Parts: sequence; C-alpha cells; structure tokens
Amino acid sequence: MTAIPKTQKVILFEETSEDLSVLQYKDFPVPEISADEILIKNRYAGVNFIEAYFRSGLYPAETPYVLGREASGVVVAKGDNVTHFKVGDKVAYLSPSTFAQYTKVDGTTGIRILKLKDDASDEDFKLLGSVLVQGLTALTFVNEPYNVKSGDFILLHAAAGGVGQLLTQLAAAKGAKVIATASTDAKLQIAKELGASFLINSSTDDIVKKVKEFTNGVGVNAVYDGIGKATFEASFESLAPKGTFISFGNSSGAVPPFSISRLAPKNIAILRPQLFGYTNTPETWEKYSKELLALISEGKLKFTITKVYALKDYPKAAQELESRATTGKLTLEIPQ
Ligand code: NDP
Repeated sequence: MTAIPKTQKVILFEETSEDLSVLQYKDFPVPEISADEILIKNRYAGVNFIEAYFRSGLYPAETPYVLGREASGVVVAKGDNVTHFKVGDKVAYLSPSTFAQYTKVDGTTGIRILKLKDDASDEDFKLLGSVLVQGLTALTFVNEPYNVKSGDFILLHAAAGGVGQLLTQLAAAKGAKVIATASTDAKLQIAKELGASFLINSSTDDIVKKVKEFTNGVGVNAVYDGIGKATFEASFESLAPKGTFISFGNSSGAVPPFSISRLAPKNIAILRPQLFGYTNTPETWEKYSKELLALISEGKLKFTITKVYALKDYPKAAQELESRATTGKLTLEIPQ
C-alpha cells in the first residue's frame, strides 16, 4: 500500500454559476478521517445531473465544493471505531465529494457502501462506481413513491437518459405500458429497445395529446418527471383520475410553486422523492443494493456506460450531459 499523500486532484467550484467555467481541476487537501470514518482511494466516479444543480446554486453548496455523488475504489485507511471495513477492501459507494482521488465516508454502519469481491476487475469498478445513483433511484422509485403495477400506463420523460433507461426497463418488467418521451427519434429508439410501448418526441409532438391518444382519453396512472419546469404542465395534464405525479428532478429548471387545490379535480397525488430517503437504513440499503446487483448480473437490467472521461475532463462531460447530447451514463476515471 503506497503512502497517503497530503494533497490530491479534485473537481471543485468556488462560486456558483450556470456557466461551466467555474469548474476547476485543482490540488486540494486529502481529507483527514475521524475514528468513525474510512478513506477511499477512488477508481471511477459516475456523473449525475445533480452536479449541475449544486454548481448553478439551485441546491445549496458550501464552497469550495468538491462535486460527485458516487464512486468505487479501495479502502486505504480506517478509524478505530470502524468494524465493517478493513484496509484493502474494494468498495462502491454513495457519498458527496467523489470527483476526487480520495473521499472519506462514515464506516460504522455500512449504509451506502457496497463491498466488492476481492478479485473485482477494472470493469467491476467501472460498473459499480457508476450504477448506484441512477440504478437505486430507478429501482426504489418504481416501488416506493408509486408501486408500478401490471397493466398501468406510465409516462416517463427523458427515457433514454441515465435514470430514464433504467426506469423504462423496470416499469416494463413489472408489466406496465411505458409511454416514453425523449427529444430525438434516435433517443426514442433506445427507449423502444428497452421496453417502451409508446413513444413521444418531445421536440415535435404534443405530449398531452399523444398520451390521451395512447390511453383512450383516460391518461396515465403515474408520471415520472425528472425534467421539472418544462414538462410540469404536460405531466399534470397527462394524469388519469387518481393518478400519481412523481416529480424527481429539474433538468430544465425547478418546478414553479403551484396551488395545492389544483390536485382536487382529479384526486391527484404528488410526490417529490429523493433516493437517499429510501436507502437510509441498513435494511433498505441491503435490500435495494442486493436487488440492483442481482438484476444486473442476471442480465435483467441493462446499464450502458456510453463514455468514460478522465477526471480532469469532467467539464466536457457536464457540457454534453447538460446540452442533452447524451444517452445512458457518463463516468470519470480517477488518476491513480
Ligand atoms: P439524464 O441522463 O436523464 O439527462 C437529463 C435529460 O433530461 C437530458 O438528456 C434530456 O433528455 C432531458 N432534458 C429535458 N430538458 C432539458 C434541459 N433543459 N436541459 C438538460 N436536459 C434536459 O440525467 P440523469 O439520469 O443523471 O438524471 C435524470 C433526472 O433524475 C435529473 O433531473 C436528476 O436530477 C434526477 N435524479 C433525481 C434523483 C432523486 O433522488 N430525486 C436521483 C437521481 C437523479 P431529452 O433530450 O430526451 O429530453
């Protein structure tokens, strides 16, 4: 085991901005661990849309703010109270500050940290350092905020995106009729191959009109909307009576405030869930992470990493993701 350095390379910002130019690839102190923490030397860190919200100031961030929400790597140090992990363990985990060579995390509960096999390969590190945020979001969301049922009509936006591809497959596997939206026909083709039954090109089609057409005028049982501001009204109008609105992101901007009385005419339920609330106990973490890994290893859930960037090139990855140029997952390779 090589010595732990005092400084490391990270991606951070010191002031918030929509503009990518605030992103810096910089030397930054390696975190010091407490008795409850482990230090992980990272290998791969998945890119997620949430990074844009911290950078833009939509979500609060204390600066300097090191980006990243998930990674894989090897435990290189542990505090005295840590019993779940030892130095040398290979892990994949959810945590802030993973666009870095080293990240410290709580090691006393095992929540949000997966132990990998001792012989985990580079491909295992890549997959598991990239799948947890989007995979667990999709898996918990088809069960918890709304339990998708066979025969349901489900409207899914950005169906060729990272979360979208997984939601499409999981909802279709539960027997739902997935109505997928995406901004290009090429993206819609991906959704179709993953199990979507109906396709809506959000650049050219009227979403509500198409949904009414596909559902014999009734509307959908549930809508999963990670786009936010741009699609809120169409999502709302697309719901059947007693439908459920799962608003889980803001890729086009935050949903503006609205009057709760708008829910009354169709008895609509609306939720604004976050992944962490469904994986914050040892039992729920274990249940969902095991189920996710089983679905992937049995070939029942296809997870596509479309591009791997070097850590220093995160701004290029962000540019692609935020300009709607991507499908599936982008990930960062961390310099060793
Ligand atoms: P995606 O890969 O889905 O990328 C975002 C997609 O949103 C784009 O590809 C694009 O698809 C669509 N989009 C529509 N309008 C815009 C716009 N103005 N700017 C940019 N993109 C737009 O990202 P992720 O899979 O990482 O995340 C999807 C959503 O899920 C995000 O909102 C994210 O924050 C949310 N999320 C929420 C979690 C939670 O716990 N609540 C956890 C994880 C993710 P198209 O061109 O086809 O419209």
